[in-house]
Formats: sequence, C-alpha cells, structure tokens
Amino acid sequence: MVEKDCVPFILDFLPQEGPDDTRIHRFYDHLREGRLTTTRCSSCGEILWQPRVVCPHCNADTMEWIDLPKEGTIYAHTAMVLGAPLGFENDLPFVIAIVRLDMGDHGHMLLFTRVDDAKYEDLAIGDKLWFKTYDCGDGRVFFRFTATAPD
Ligand SMILES: [Zn+2]
Repeated sequence: MVEKDCVPFILDFLPQEGPDDTRIHRFYDHLREGRLTTTRCSSCGEILWQPRVVCPHCNADTMEWIDLPKEGTIYAHTAMVLGAPLGFENDLPFVIAIVRLDMGDHGHMLLFTRVDDAKYEDLAIGDKLWFKTYDCGDGRVFFRFTATAPD
C-alpha cells in the first residue's frame, strides 16, 4: 500500500491548490471556510461547474464566485471496490455518487463526489446528502458529501 504523502506528484489524484498552482485557488479557500462554491460568468450569466477562469459559452474571462447549496440528493451512485486511485486503496470499499443540487431558477446541477458515512446498499436514488469539507491530511482540502445530516 502507498501512503498518501508518498504518492508521486504525477500520480497525485488531488490538485495543487495554491495561487501559484491554479487560478481557481479561491475554490479551495472557500472549502476551508466551509463553503462549496463555483464560478458564474459575469458576461452571459452561465453557472459553471467545475469552477472556470474562461467561460466555455461566451469566452469571457470575468467570473464571480457563487455559493452552491450544501444539500443535494442522490442522482446516481455506486460502490468502488477495486481500482481506487493511488493512495486511496486503504479506503476501499467506498461510495461515489452524482449529486443533484437544486439551483432554483437555474434548474439543477449534477456534481460528482465521494460519499462518506454510508454503505452503497444503505443508499437510494433521491436520498439526501450534505456537503462537507474533507481534510486531505497534508494541508490540502477537497469536498465530499456525507449521508449524515449536520447537527
Ligand atoms: Zn459566459
């Protein structure tokens, strides 16, 4: 088994998050604040996932950050039992899902995530999931969803 902090950079599943690494570094700052955010194009108004620095619809490069709902429902899910990315082998089996976020007047958004605190067989399409910030243990953060409602 490979320890997460020994994973070669080229095989590192998690992104580098600093301002010198990515122009969407504020996404990770927001995760540290407990916020799930993405970008909305200031020109055409399109809400983009994942966060972008250039709009794929109108090519504008002026974006604003918006908060996404912290609660969603399962659109689809499965269990990963084999072939986990390097550094995640010890976590098997785990649940991955597509979460549907209700965006009000903007319809809905589908977002791929790992799901904590549940087994595949205990989940069903339509079940509620809640956003959580995941501490990667090496100074980085990412997001996951959990099947356990927050207090
Ligand atoms: Zn646009």
